[in-house]
Amino acid sequence: MSDRYFVESPVTSDRATLAGAEAHHLLHVMRAKVGTRVTLFDGSGWQFDAIVQRTCRSEVELAIAGRQEINREAPIAVTLGVALPKGDRQKWLVEKVVELGVARLVPLETERGVAQPVENVLDRLRRGVIEASKQCGRNQLMEIAEPKAWRDFLAENEAVACRLIAHPTDKPSCETLCTQKTMLPVPLPTPNGITALAIGPEGGFTDQEVALAIAQGWQPVDLGSRILRVETAAMALAARVIGEGS
Ligand code: SAH
Repeated sequence: MSDRYFVESPVTSDRATLAGAEAHHLLHVMRAKVGTRVTLFDGSGWQFDAIVQRTCRSEVELAIAGRQEINREAPIAVTLGVALPKGDRQKWLVEKVVELGVARLVPLETERGVAQPVENVLDRLRRGVIEASKQCGRNQLMEIAEPKAWRDFLAENEAVACRLIAHPTDKPSCETLCTQKTMLPVPLPTPNGITALAIGPEGGFTDQEVALAIAQGWQPVDLGSRILRVETAAMALAARVIGEGS
């Protein structure tokens, strides 16, 4: 199990305090005592060697013994717009895309969407980002953005050079919609650029949603002849785009 813990407030002095779920994990799961050494990160890109100084029921005070800036971000900043699946599959999706190095996840509001990205869902996803970052060593947190309507997501990414929409293309309507479909492997975006990806809901994007994206310059991508679950499609596309050189 990971010995990394997330500190909510930026570490700016030689002391830090863990509270809430992180303190619970350190005290009651890892059974830390005064003198236990752990690694802290605060989302700034730095990580900190720390030693437990004082414990009480729900808080741990630590002394900072060293600090390093360690960048484990992907070379390409990926924004992933995704119509969330339901329940545990959301958690799995977040865990995997954090591991792969996605920079920002935007829950999409689409016509056939099944999950309502309400505030407690977003809180749960943000907690999932912390858990996955503890485990995989990322020192910056993937952003869980506020949910966006499809149209607004397209507008927000208008200036992004590489924009890919995953859409199965063996459907009759695609013959007309996706005249320039791209199969994997996709042409790779330039390193250090931003790439925007879009994954539809379980029921798929509507023809109108796909047409709107294509009209604005998004490139449809086919992920193969099998229909993938939302979370599998998100992983497959993110892995391919980030994969090289990360
Ligand atoms: N029933 C839907 C499939 C939805 S799968 C349909 O037939 O269109 C959920 C989302 O995953 C899709 O909207 C798409 O963005 C992505 N996806 C799944 N399989 C895919 C494939 N083979 N190629 C491209 N995108 C795919």
